[in-house]
Amino acid sequence: EHPTFFKLLIVSTVSGGGLLTFSDASPFQGLITDSSQNEGKKKKVVVLGTGWAGTSFLKNLKSSSYDVQVVSPNNFFTFTPLLPSVTNGTVEARSIVEPIRNIVKKKPYNVEFKEAECYKIDPVNKKVYCRSNQSSTLDGIEEFTVDYDVLILAMGARVNTFNTPGVEEHAHFLKEVGDALRLRKSIIDCYERASLPSVSEEEKKRVMHFVVVGGGPTGVEYAAELHDLAFDDMAKLYPSAKDYLKITLLEAGDHILNMFDKRITTFATEKFQRDGIDVKTGSMVVKVSDKDISTKERKTGEIVSVPYGVVLWSTGIATRPVVRDFMNHIDQVKRRVLATDEWLRVEGCEDVYALGDCATINQRKVMEDIAAIFRKADKTNTGTLDLKDFKEVVGHICERYPQVELYLQKNKLKSFDALLKNAQGDDKKQIDIEIFKKALSEVDSQMKSLPPTAQVAAQQGEYLAKCFNRKELCEKNPEGPLRFRASGRHQFHPFRYRHFGQFAPLGGEQTAAQLPGDWVSIGHSAQWLWYSVYASKLVSWRTRMLVISDWSRKFIFGRDSSKI
Ligand code: FAD
Repeated sequence: EHPTFFKLLIVSTVSGGGLLTFSDASPFQGLITDSSQNEGKKKKVVVLGTGWAGTSFLKNLKSSSYDVQVVSPNNFFTFTPLLPSVTNGTVEARSIVEPIRNIVKKKPYNVEFKEAECYKIDPVNKKVYCRSNQSSTLDGIEEFTVDYDVLILAMGARVNTFNTPGVEEHAHFLKEVGDALRLRKSIIDCYERASLPSVSEEEKKRVMHFVVVGGGPTGVEYAAELHDLAFDDMAKLYPSAKDYLKITLLEAGDHILNMFDKRITTFATEKFQRDGIDVKTGSMVVKVSDKDISTKERKTGEIVSVPYGVVLWSTGIATRPVVRDFMNHIDQVKRRVLATDEWLRVEGCEDVYALGDCATINQRKVMEDIAAIFRKADKTNTGTLDLKDFKEVVGHICERYPQVELYLQKNKLKSFDALLKNAQGDDKKQIDIEIFKKALSEVDSQMKSLPPTAQVAAQQGEYLAKCFNRKELCEKNPEGPLRFRASGRHQFHPFRYRHFGQFAPLGGEQTAAQLPGDWVSIGHSAQWLWYSVYASKLVSWRTRMLVISDWSRKFIFGRDSSKI
């Protein structure tokens, strides 16, 4: 219960005054039809991408008021959390993908899918330029343009190579199904080569050295999967190769899984040590050649080169060139990632929304918003709040911005008090707005924007679809209930992320789970939780059945080592 804050909120809503610092225009103004010019004509919504964000939008859109065109180089959705399982054959590639046409076939809106990639966005003429990617199988590349009234960017991101020489040419990535299949084939190639009688000892050691670069969740999960494959199955199938096997995990930072609780990081590091996976922290890759990988050791500054058979590069994400080019056109040149406001509208551009990994909500604006909330709660207008009011305000900020709460949890700060004491030096009864700002800027500088995860992307897709659905109800019921008649920025609440926790599979049927409220579970029980959560999250009953049968097959018959 937060009476002060609710009063504030009601007052500001009625008076139209601003809790928020964004533009006053309604976030979804004029979505359905443009009454002045195109009476009766449906709005053309173009969705770029069929990943987590795009698919979630398409699944949740229930309004028949739109003509939807979908453009993506893949005519399917991929359940990315199971990609590491595809690399070792635990799960088949086909089991984790669902054709996009299946997903949209019973939707009430008109929808067309075009298998192509968008290579240019023209926000002035409201056009996207696309080209088909069928040149390898059919005659030539087809180019075309698609006009839009509303554009939804859900193109995800590319792998960040940090321009490290040789990575593009020699390393494997793990972003798509094709990557997983290529990686699997390369690993089996190495086993086959190491089993040939004519190959030298030195060469066998080289090809059987598998290197994973990046100690984030994907890198760690892949290293664990690889270890399971090697010890559970390949050791029996390739007895002569197994003695040469070495798995190395390279991480430039101080520890692996740095976005997880310390208990998980420690457990994972110790488990990998016991399993014989060589975890090297403070080791930054500076070059990859066709046979060697070179690292710079942070402590000594020494450059070390080691021969390898397969390298997986998994060090985070970067903006796609087409999105970067678009950013240059809309005055976001200096930004690293495309910025949106809290309604997912691209800043500096009309009628364009961006979801998932290809964009980020502008945190500076969020911070200004938080400061505005503080000012509103400051009834005395003295720039101070007493501790009780302050705590209420912080409670609401955490509710509204879970990233602030996450930051506090991660740093073991149960409230802002501790943070303020740090900034302030002593425990004053009154909180000065300047000190509050200082504390916020500390949070701001350390708080990362929302993590690039499927959870965020899917929630954003759902949020936007619900706003579009609601807009239809508002326009069709101008005299309807009050909630449809509200106007301006209060008609739609901003996007709020709900964090349901995260998993880090560690191999040997053990997983680490970090759930909301700082609840940590590690081991076999968390692995069963992982199985249940991912089975339930799969996009269709077909894929659910296939994945569960793949898991059962693995338990009964083990993994398959064929190269297909
Ligand atoms: P994507 O899902 O990457 O989709 C992008 C879409 O855009 C694709 O359909 C692509 O084909 C299309 N596209 C690309 N270029 C163009 C173009 N030029 N024009 C048109 N379309 C284009 N997150 C979790 O929350 N939990 C996990 O356990 C987890 N595990 C992961 C494991 C792996 C191996 C990987 C790679 C990621 C994992 N993630 C996980 C992260 C998660 O997959 C991403 O955050 C999520 O996919 C982002 O969704 P998105 O829709 O923004 O992008």
